[in-house]
Amino acid sequence: MKILKGISASQGIAIGRVFFYLDEYLKVPEYKICESEIDKEIERLNKAIKKTKKELYKLKESMGGDKGISESGFLEAHILMLEDPELLKRIKTIIKKEYSNAEWALNKTIQEYIEILSASQDEYLRERAFDIRDVAKRLLANLLYKNRIDLSDIKEEVILVAHELLPSDTLAMDKRMVKGIATDAGGKTSHAAILARAFEIPAVLGLGNITAEVRNGDKIIVDGTTGTIIIQPDEAALELYRNKLFEWQKKEVELLDLKTIPAETKDGKKIFLMANIEIPEETESALSHGADGIGLYRSEFFFMQPGKFASEEEQYQAYSKVLSSMENHSVTIRTIDLGGDKMLPGTNFTEEPNPILGWRSIRFCMGNREIFETQLRALLRASVHGQLKIMFPMISGVEELDDVLALYNQVKRDFDNKGVEYDHNIPLGIMIEVPSAAMTADILARKVKFFSIGTNDLIQYTIAVDRGNEKVAYLYEPFHPGVLRLLKMVIEGAHSQSIPVSMCGEMAGDPYAAVILLGLGLDIFSMSSLSIPEIKNIIRSVSMIEAEELVGTIFDMKSYREIDRFVRGWMDERFEYLRRE
Ligand code: PEP
Ligand code: MG
Repeated sequence: MKILKGISASQGIAIGRVFFYLDEYLKVPEYKICESEIDKEIERLNKAIKKTKKELYKLKESMGGDKGISESGFLEAHILMLEDPELLKRIKTIIKKEYSNAEWALNKTIQEYIEILSASQDEYLRERAFDIRDVAKRLLANLLYKNRIDLSDIKEEVILVAHELLPSDTLAMDKRMVKGIATDAGGKTSHAAILARAFEIPAVLGLGNITAEVRNGDKIIVDGTTGTIIIQPDEAALELYRNKLFEWQKKEVELLDLKTIPAETKDGKKIFLMANIEIPEETESALSHGADGIGLYRSEFFFMQPGKFASEEEQYQAYSKVLSSMENHSVTIRTIDLGGDKMLPGTNFTEEPNPILGWRSIRFCMGNREIFETQLRALLRASVHGQLKIMFPMISGVEELDDVLALYNQVKRDFDNKGVEYDHNIPLGIMIEVPSAAMTADILARKVKFFSIGTNDLIQYTIAVDRGNEKVAYLYEPFHPGVLRLLKMVIEGAHSQSIPVSMCGEMAGDPYAAVILLGLGLDIFSMSSLSIPEIKNIIRSVSMIEAEELVGTIFDMKSYREIDRFVRGWMDERFEYLRRE
């Protein structure tokens, strides 16, 4: 038995047998050709490219084509890679000048590309190395007349173990058969992680070297909630995890029973529970978990796919799809929140010494009017398909907000002049994730229809602790008295102007924070769909009086540690199942 720790990418537990997907390492043959064979070799390459493109089109078609899974957009980029004149020129040059066989020339070219991309500081570019490797593997298999393992053709339930899961693998795999995922590589924002969450498959990524530790058919446990993998578990571990799985499933089913019941405190205060989504397909999970709407659609994920910036039409289609699939529920779409740790190539981002405090989010959008206006036009056009709310991220003060609102009104006027149809009363809101905005909440509240607190960033900026840096993770304290005071200030500021306050940072889905947030007067909680039933259960089990009393008690306390200990004790006493290990 061996235990490995990785990144918890998608919650849940799975027990099963390893399906080892090393994508059969294809040995690349190397041999020299003579002058008279060059044309034939290039013809062989061209044929393989044609076949590979055909396969990719077929795969795209099986995803529902352009109107299907929006994530399949990367297949288009893969096809474009196969048409990239620079890439093809380089392969052909190696064939012609070095008299190399096509496989070797392809391999050499791809290694050059991968080296450049992998050395990049930019996470997005590094992940594009996955894409180019993905296309190259397909092409190589076709040159060698080998068939790749087809993940859409798995016949029994398995735990997929791979070095890395490429986007096309994750989309193509049979989701009913893949019960869990464990990979050497990948982070929380990799395509595999996003899709695993969207498809509700427990996943642990970034394990380093799991592929060296397991064999096909090995027994394995995936605990996506804690990021743990157990290889060849002994009877005791199996028993423990069978129980955990049973408890998890039981709890999920019990909590799902709450789906149609409102999130109402014992003394009758109705709270709205919304879902955070990253891709349009997640609306299905939002509805099945009883979400009252979408509280945060991170629209920038739409741009974090290979290829160019999404066009107005592509955005319009995606936003319309989310709005219409949420039926009568409201959908809050956040405008592009790029920059900081979410860099993109093809935009005029420059290297900045301090990107988290730099040209990101709304600042980037206001500096790239073309991109921002395109998104606003797409949003306005889509607004006729449902109940749209628009939210601007990272607002730091009144002038910035005024400039954004002026631009928004200009786009509306242009539409009015052209007679374009849109909803004239879309509620506009802002995210409160900068301390200066929190401290002027009562002023900002006069200008918008709602607030949504982004605690992920608000905590980062309040405590001056990089949310992605594990060395200072011990300082990232949602119950820090400074953070709690700011939350109170925001909620009171909003309520003084009679506008509702939502929270869409991770804190909203943290069961230990739920009663405090209730007591502070939060109106809307927005979180990953999977967390909704649990938070609903907690809300339904307490009264506002209890919640306000808890807040009163902790506001008299002086330190994070004191508050944390007290709140955990308070919650564990009432919700025994919360005590994890
Ligand atoms: C936040 O900062 O809390 C938030 C919801 O935005 P993101 O996590 O996308 O930065
Ligand atoms: Mg944020």
